[in-house]
Amino acid sequence: DLISEDNCDKLGTGGFGVVTKLTHVPSNVVMAVKRVQIQVDIGLKRELAAMEEGRDKGSRFIVDYYGSLKHNGEVWMAMELMKMSIHEIKLKVYEEKRSSVPEGITWYVCYCICSALDFLKTELHIIHRDVKPSNMLVGANGSVKICDFGISGPLIESKAKTNDIGCRPYMAPERFDPSITHYTIQSDVWSFGISMMEVITGSFPYSKCSSYFEQWNRIATCDPPQLIEENCSQILLDFINPCLNKDSKKRPVFKDLLKYSYFDGFEYETNKVSMVEWMQSLDI
Ligand code: ADP
Ligand code: MG
Repeated sequence: DLISEDNCDKLGTGGFGVVTKLTHVPSNVVMAVKRVQIQVDIGLKRELAAMEEGRDKGSRFIVDYYGSLKHNGEVWMAMELMKMSIHEIKLKVYEEKRSSVPEGITWYVCYCICSALDFLKTELHIIHRDVKPSNMLVGANGSVKICDFGISGPLIESKAKTNDIGCRPYMAPERFDPSITHYTIQSDVWSFGISMMEVITGSFPYSKCSSYFEQWNRIATCDPPQLIEENCSQILLDFINPCLNKDSKKRPVFKDLLKYSYFDGFEYETNKVSMVEWMQSLDI
């Protein structure tokens, strides 16, 4: 009864539940609530603690986390309400508007996401494990932030146990190698590269796969996808392509990516304003 559902708007549906817009009545704060139906035994505690720690340490590149509660056998995770995901923006731009994402906007998204993932690693000592365009959210003020860090790991594992793995196409090749059990941040670098490739070209590099096994096969055995000259400028191509090295040790680390020459004198606030203006021009 602390929460009003009168204006209960669905913001999206994911593999593990729904996200809706709710109002916290005492404070009148409008927020996004992710509802996940879970078996009691999956340990989300550590991840929820990480989200709390993230909130306390604070980063402008991380979606703010308000807290969680159990309700009717579901876990409700309350977080900052954002406007839409990079995935939705991509669909809108390429499919509805038949347009493309300007490179300046792409660089800004890259800057925010690399900063976010570097923050998670350096400050919170966690890796994301589910980097993809639908976990990159844009605020009404043009901020770009990452969400769903940490929690996806246990959720994915618990789903794997139910044999309902589904397609996990942003996953790095080493994630399909049974001899590698240790997940490193370099797998997030791959997922970042695949996500940005999708933002730049408008299509997903492994899109025409009929099944999980086909996808698995292609990621594990084929040459990695690479941007080509027709897709974008050379400087952007040289930034993204090294992230898509099949050898995880040869990929750049997020700190290196942030030192890339494009980011010399990079003005975050100016870019944030451009993001708002661009969204307005698209009627988003
Ligand atoms: P997935 O990330 O796999 O799409 P989720 O359940 O995490 O699944 O989220 C479903 C959708 O809800 C996302 O794609 C996004 O569009 C939307 N969403 C998630 N969190 C928020 C938020 N804090 N503010 C606004 N929309 C959100
Ligand atoms: Mg998500």
